[in-house]
Amino acid sequence: MTRRGVWPAAPAPLPGPIVDNHCHLDFPAGDEPRSVEDRLAEADAAGVTRVVQIGCDLESARWTADAVARFPQMVGGVALHPNDAAVLAAEGAYDEAFAEISELARGERIRVVGETGLDYYRTGPEGRGAQLQAFRDHIALAKELNKPLQIHDRDAHADVIDVLMADGAPETTVFHCFSGDAAMARLCADRGWYLSFAGTVTFKNASLLQAAAAVTPLSLTLIETDSPFLTPHPHRGAPNSPAHAAHTVREIARLHDRPLEEICAAVWDTSHELYGPW
Ligand SMILES: [Zn+2]
Repeated sequence: MTRRGVWPAAPAPLPGPIVDNHCHLDFPAGDEPRSVEDRLAEADAAGVTRVVQIGCDLESARWTADAVARFPQMVGGVALHPNDAAVLAAEGAYDEAFAEISELARGERIRVVGETGLDYYRTGPEGRGAQLQAFRDHIALAKELNKPLQIHDRDAHADVIDVLMADGAPETTVFHCFSGDAAMARLCADRGWYLSFAGTVTFKNASLLQAAAAVTPLSLTLIETDSPFLTPHPHRGAPNSPAHAAHTVREIARLHDRPLEEICAAVWDTSHELYGPW
């Protein structure tokens, strides 16, 4: 049974290791806080042996730069989240914040610029100009550093694609927590963009997203938790941790009607192609 605030039981171990492509281990979650060590050990036992930690505001980016030096199973990404970028711009603090992100992004174990993009769900029209500028700045940074870009796209599919096409997408572009339909998945796949599926693909009302996952080539498919958010079925609503990527990769295997071993191996290989060895 799932209870809000209570950490769910760990999933059954996977037949091969995978990478959690996007998590926030610094965010507080659950009624009882759990250490990073504890959550990484739980993930390891479930077969989620490596993680990409995303720091998407200044404090979180600094935390990430420190954590990737301490945990060998972790690499990181840094950026200003689109909602934070809008707030920082309104306060006149964006330029200085982005300058620090640009420095942190140069770290050897910071392998991702992200998450960045457009969020029309949380930010209203007054913040959209600032989001757009931040998105374009992060695209330019990813190209300058030749690092993969992770995109946050919430209720903004058409504009995100327009900006990528107008500015030119970085060589490696990943849609974190992909939320489009099969047509958008095909459009992204045609451009060689990677789609990272979160626990949302396991939800009972996710038929459009499941159709999108089914048409996404395995060579462009990644798995993530976005933990502590978006806990997969059957624990939806409870706090999430990287171990629960195991539920999501099982759903992807079901949708592709392929052996779980094969999907795990593909996700593992693709993750390392993108981010390099760690
Ligand atoms: Zn995230």
